[in-house]
Amino acid sequence: MFKVHAVATVNLPKLLREMPKAELHIHIEGSLEPELIFALAERNGVKLPYANVEALRAAYAFTNLQSFLDIYYAGASVLLHEQDFYDMAWAYLQRAAADHVVHTEIFFDPQTHTERGVPMATVINGLHRACADAQTQLGVSAQLILCFLRHLSEEAALHTFQEALPFKDKFIGVGLDSSEVGHPPEKFKNVFALAHAHGLHLVAHAGEEGPPAYMWSALDVLRVERIDHGVQAVHDAALMARLAKDRTPLTVCPLSNQKLCVFPDLKDHNIGQLLDAGLCVTINSDDPAYFGGYINDNFVQTFEAAGLTAQHAYVLARNSFEASFVTEAQRQKWIHELKLCFERFAEGDH
Ligand SMILES: [Zn+2]
Repeated sequence: MFKVHAVATVNLPKLLREMPKAELHIHIEGSLEPELIFALAERNGVKLPYANVEALRAAYAFTNLQSFLDIYYAGASVLLHEQDFYDMAWAYLQRAAADHVVHTEIFFDPQTHTERGVPMATVINGLHRACADAQTQLGVSAQLILCFLRHLSEEAALHTFQEALPFKDKFIGVGLDSSEVGHPPEKFKNVFALAHAHGLHLVAHAGEEGPPAYMWSALDVLRVERIDHGVQAVHDAALMARLAKDRTPLTVCPLSNQKLCVFPDLKDHNIGQLLDAGLCVTINSDDPAYFGGYINDNFVQTFEAAGLTAQHAYVLARNSFEASFVTEAQRQKWIHELKLCFERFAEGDH
């Protein structure tokens, strides 16, 4: 076991920002900053229901998941051409590189675009080209995960999956997102079984606002490898024990939880409890343009509010690599770099 030396409190934010990490819960449409939304609207001649950047930003006072989703879908309406999808992903990837994200698995919602008449090829090719450029130009490893919108039917998801199959070499898995309550995972049993048969990784949002029962069915019916959010697990002792035993990763998003009033105050967030229970918890940004921060903002603000330590920082970053869908050799390489980073900070030369 790697020994994490004490790090002076004053150096902890710098360590959090500089340590290598993976981001596993980021919706690329949720990285669209108001400035880029307006630039793309102008480029594409799309009329927005907001007068300017300031008016759009002012509308980001959410009361729950649905109030956010309404604005999120309005923002996505400016995306029409392959270059738009590229530009959106590239903007995120540059920020990720600046935050020392060495690997990211990016969610995208094709139905948000195909329902507006944008072809699947436009969406996937634009995003994938940005991911390929991230590796060569930024040194960031980036993969795509196709998410189904759970407020739509499973039939629609099956149709979307068939449309995406010709591009199967450009995404590594499928996920489930959008309005959780009232749309349990088991609604998508068949499409997840099909994706599994095609050799794809499986993840799903569960236990963000929804009950622990949704996490059970994500695990037992959909057979997911990771759960996105999962913070409601603390209400079910048997579920907590299982998550700890199986090391099922939870991709937790603290600033998102705060903005959507799951935990109105970050100091009340249960991430410390989840870590203490031995769960494979990770920190992620979810929809950073809308929730007030990218991954390093999530780390720094959560550590400050919850009083977490350098030991927690190491565990969280290590968990992010353990939870990544990468080869064991790649995982060990990043964990080695993580240890070197922590040793640097322990030597007191910062
Ligand atoms: Zn999410």
